[in-house]
Amino acid sequence: MKGYGMLKIGSTGWLEKDVPGCGPMDAIVEPIALAPCTSDIHTVWEGALGDRHDMILGHEAVGKVAEVGSLVKDFQKGDKVIVPAITPDWNSVEAQQGFSMHSGGMLSGWKFSNFKDGVFAEYFHVNDADGNLAKLPEGMDPAAACMLSDMVPTGFHGAELAEVAYGDDVCVIGIGPVGLMSVAGTALRGAARILAVGSRPKCVEVAREYGATDIINYKEGDIVEQVMELTCGKGVDKVIIAGGDGETFLDAVKMMKPGGRIGNVNYLGQGDFIKLPRVEWGSGMGHKTIAGGLMPGGRLRMEKLASLIHLGKLDTKKLVTRTFQGFDKIEEALMLMKEKPKELIKPVVLM
Ligand code: NDP
Ligand code: ZN
Repeated sequence: MKGYGMLKIGSTGWLEKDVPGCGPMDAIVEPIALAPCTSDIHTVWEGALGDRHDMILGHEAVGKVAEVGSLVKDFQKGDKVIVPAITPDWNSVEAQQGFSMHSGGMLSGWKFSNFKDGVFAEYFHVNDADGNLAKLPEGMDPAAACMLSDMVPTGFHGAELAEVAYGDDVCVIGIGPVGLMSVAGTALRGAARILAVGSRPKCVEVAREYGATDIINYKEGDIVEQVMELTCGKGVDKVIIAGGDGETFLDAVKMMKPGGRIGNVNYLGQGDFIKLPRVEWGSGMGHKTIAGGLMPGGRLRMEKLASLIHLGKLDTKKLVTRTFQGFDKIEEALMLMKEKPKELIKPVVLM
C-alpha cells in the first residue's frame, strides 16, 4: 500500500509498505477524510518526537472499517468511523487512573505517527477498536467530522484543564484551529467574556463567530497590557494556551487573577525550562494553577463531541477552509499546513 510519511527529520515523501496486520482487538481502516496537523509539521521539521525514519504521518481521520479482529464486538467491516488522534490502551493502569493519554508511559496514548505508522495511508491500524473508534453519525459531513479526531477534543481539553466555569472571563492565547475550538468549548462551558489572542484575519473572524468577545493582536503590543486594559486592571479568571512559546506562560500567569487556572494544550518545542514570573505568581502563594495535558482520546469522547455537531451545537465546518480531492493530494495539503497562508485554518483531503 501507499503512504505519505516522514523519511527523516526535515524530509517527507511517498512510502510503499505492507498493509498492517489486525490483532484480535484491533481494526484496519481505510480513510475517507484526512487532515494534516500542526503536530505533523512539528514532527517532521522540528524533530519534535526525535528521529523517525520512513514513518507514515497523520493522526486525524474519518474512515471505513476494512477488517476487524475476532474479539471486536461493536464494529464490523464497512462501518464508517471517526478515529481519534489519541488511541489509548484502555486496559492499562494509567487509563484506570484516569490518564488514558499516558497509557504505557508519558504521552504514549499518542500512537499514530509517533510509535507506529499514521493515517496518511491506504490502510491504517487502530488498536483497541471497541475503545477507540466511534461510529460516524448518519449524514455527518466527513470533513466536518474529521475535526473531531484532534481539533475539537484538544481545544475543548484546554477549556477542561482550565476548568472554565459559568461567568468566567477567559483569555484564549492562540486561535489556530486548536485555539478556535478552545474558544468554542469555553463558550459552551458558559464563560462570560472571551478574549482571543491571534493575528490572522480569517482566524479572527471565525473566533468571533465561535464566541470571542474581544480580539487581542499579539503583534500590536504586549498582550498582558491589552488584557489588563480591557478588564480595567483586574485580569482574567482563566487562560487557555493554544499558541505561542515558553514565554507565553509568563504572560498567562501575569494576566490572571489570584486563584486563576491555566489550561495548556500548546506544544512547547524549545528550551530546557519554562519560566514563571515570581511576583505575579504571588511569590509562590498566588493560587495560580498551571494544568497542561494531551487530550484523553477514545471512543466515548468522540461520540459525545460528535453529538454536539449532530445536534447543531457546534459547527466545525468553519475550520475547514480548504478541501482537496484524492489520496494523492495529501502531500499538497501537508505543505499548505507548513506554509500556513493567511486565509488557512485547516485543510482536509477527501478520498
Ligand atoms: P496554529 O499554528 O494554527 O495556531 C497558533 C496560534 O497561536 C495562532 O493563532 C497564532 O497567531 C498564535 N500565536 C503564534 N505566536 C504567538 C505568540 N507569540 N503569542 C500569542 N499567540 C501566538 O496551531 P494549531 O491551532 O494547529 O495548534 C496549536 C498548538 O496545539 C500547536 O502547538 C500544536 O502542536 C498543539 N497541539 C496539541 C495537541 C494536544 O493534544 N495537546 C494536539 C494538537 C495540536 P497567528 O494568527 O498570528 O497565526
Ligand atoms: Zn493533530
